[in-house]
Amino acid sequence: MIHRLQRIVQEVNRAPDIDSALVLITDSLTQDLAADACTIFLARKDDPDVMALQACSGLNPAIIGRVERQMGQGLIGTIAARAEPMNLTDAPSHKKFLLVPDSGEVDFPIFLGVPIIAHRHVLGVIAVQRATSAFNEDEEAYLTTLAAQLATSIERAESQGRFSTQQTTHIIKGVPGSPGMAIGMAMVLNRGVNLESVPNKRTDDIDSELTSFRKAVNLVCEELTLQAEKMRAYLPEEECALFVVYAQMLSGGSLIDDTEKSINAGNWAPSSWRDTVEQHAHVFSQMEDAYLAERANDIRDLGLRVLRRLMLEQSAFLDFPDQTILVGDEVTATDLADVPPDCLSGIVSAHGSSSSHVAILAHALGIPAVMGVPNLPVKQLDGVKLVVDGYNGSAYINPDKYVLEEYGQYLEEENAIEQDLLELKDKTAATTDKRQITLMVNSGLMSDPTPSLRSGAEGVGLYRTEIPFQIRDRFPSEEEQYQIYRNVLETFRGKPVVLRTLDVGGDKPLPYFPINEANPFLGWRGVRITLDHPEIFITQVRAMMRANVGINNLEILLPMISGKAELDDSLILINRVRDEIEEETGENIWLPKIGAMIEVPSAVYQIADICQLVDFVSIGTNDLTQYLLAVDRNNENVAELYSSLHPAVLKAMVQIVEGAIAGDTPISVCGELAGDPLGVMALLGMGIDNLSMSVGSLLRAKKVIMSFSHSELTDLLQQALTMPDAFMIRELYAGKLDERGLGGLIRAGR
Ligand code: PEP
Ligand code: MG
Repeated sequence: MIHRLQRIVQEVNRAPDIDSALVLITDSLTQDLAADACTIFLARKDDPDVMALQACSGLNPAIIGRVERQMGQGLIGTIAARAEPMNLTDAPSHKKFLLVPDSGEVDFPIFLGVPIIAHRHVLGVIAVQRATSAFNEDEEAYLTTLAAQLATSIERAESQGRFSTQQTTHIIKGVPGSPGMAIGMAMVLNRGVNLESVPNKRTDDIDSELTSFRKAVNLVCEELTLQAEKMRAYLPEEECALFVVYAQMLSGGSLIDDTEKSINAGNWAPSSWRDTVEQHAHVFSQMEDAYLAERANDIRDLGLRVLRRLMLEQSAFLDFPDQTILVGDEVTATDLADVPPDCLSGIVSAHGSSSSHVAILAHALGIPAVMGVPNLPVKQLDGVKLVVDGYNGSAYINPDKYVLEEYGQYLEEENAIEQDLLELKDKTAATTDKRQITLMVNSGLMSDPTPSLRSGAEGVGLYRTEIPFQIRDRFPSEEEQYQIYRNVLETFRGKPVVLRTLDVGGDKPLPYFPINEANPFLGWRGVRITLDHPEIFITQVRAMMRANVGINNLEILLPMISGKAELDDSLILINRVRDEIEEETGENIWLPKIGAMIEVPSAVYQIADICQLVDFVSIGTNDLTQYLLAVDRNNENVAELYSSLHPAVLKAMVQIVEGAIAGDTPISVCGELAGDPLGVMALLGMGIDNLSMSVGSLLRAKKVIMSFSHSELTDLLQQALTMPDAFMIRELYAGKLDERGLGGLIRAGR
């Protein structure tokens, strides 16, 4: 049964449009459940309370598009309203039964209907009917499971279908990833990772598309022939035969001909290839014979090999529009590096959230980003005009002149705000009642420190050292690290620079140090790894301390501290490194200040012990929020639940601040909340006066600080702490910001 389920879901996911997907479902279900009829009703887009018949099998097809049911009306409307299945042996005798005239359903009184639900919304209803023999419990369970699995596929197919014309304006909703707005042209990067996400593109240069396709095919053919020869030495002949068959399929025949036909019709080679491979694989997957059905996977495997070659060919000719909006299923930090910095204007990603690494990087670069857009029609977006609104997490596809005018005006206002903010650069960040706040920058993601210096930052409050580790194919040497740290310490000479020791694991993997865990965020991460591998920790701390010689502005921050023992062990190693360097050089080595990140809930409750061991603490609001609320910071399915302004997070932070004050330990905040204007208001209210943030947020934060008195923010926090949820707290702070005429700092158009 599970195989049948998987097969239907896979087929539906690959269907070119919603109509073919629905036909596929009705046909498969009639067959699998030995049903006489199957119908699918979907909620109308313009009125989700109305279920409209979209597909049927076994009934008169003329009824498609002609039957509708209100919520609670008929059996279908009742299933939709109650959001639960109905299994009847005599449907016509049910009081809700409504006959569909001329459908032929009178002959099929046995009825089973289940709702299709995604993200709490009833998308539609699937029903099967029979003339005789009731649907048993297993069949009901099967249909319910299938409907649950198909819900997201149907949602996706539907939304993709809606964009197929690409003519009208559509708004898509995700979560805010990085603030700001942009108008530009979508560019879908595809590294040939899968066939499904190859974007549709048209071409004017048919000859060059044909040439690159033929070149890719020839190269894969040669590879396969070589592989077959190599394998003959240690594999039986029949295993090697597969490679020979692959090579033959590429030497001519319908795979090649159909693709070339599509290219000749003006389509881009990769999408022509994608379509041909999918059509051929589909034909095989429909075959009854299990062996032949399995050949569909061979065709897709071959398809992927050619696609990868093709994408390599194509990437050499990538032409980025001036205002590139990078679009993808999962835009990564490395994707950003592919776009010339002058061209990158915005990001729209189907996966991820505001605290994903790529969103933090976008924030650091001042690029608006919309993350976690469900059912983003990636394939259809390449070359399409987009408006990105990183404040509220939405984007407009094919914006009409009204949207363009509106956002054009917002952008002008935003530029005016930025211009005004520049005047604050050299001013002291102090509240109206003269409480001075230290503003630092988060760095390490960008190589160029100039913007940070120009923004008037008073130092680096968090330098993430992960990137040099991530972009190499091995651990960077002590000397390589020394150069990097020396450069940043030198650049900020006279100002503190907080270098954080390696915080990999979780969502920051190292390609050369794979960690396979079921729960990476709860696993081997940050200081847990480096303490288990003292050679990595010692090399890094040595590089940091050597780089600090003669400059003396280094502070070291330890990530993911969850208990006292980790601090004890880290301090032993740090002191040992200092002694060793002193011994080697014969010089007195300055022991830098050592701090602990407070980002794991256990550290909140051990704040008194931690403060006794360190010189400072820094709150990592990104992880603290994730761990306190049990909400994965990268998971768009739960992104709505992720808020650092949640009352539980605020209460935990108040406790940290009280602990730090009692221990006379300096405290700062370096998570994203420190750069959010509303977060600044809340944190100041707690008594925090050292904030570290992305450079792009610095002057906005200063503006907020200079617009409020510390005492009013203290009162406001007390009010916030009585509120039951993050939404109300956000509204409270946003309302106050609006009252001061500063709404434009957090959203477009005010
Ligand atoms: C944090 O968790 O708040 C933090 C600053 O560190 P990172 O985002 O690198 O985990
Ligand atoms: Mg963290």
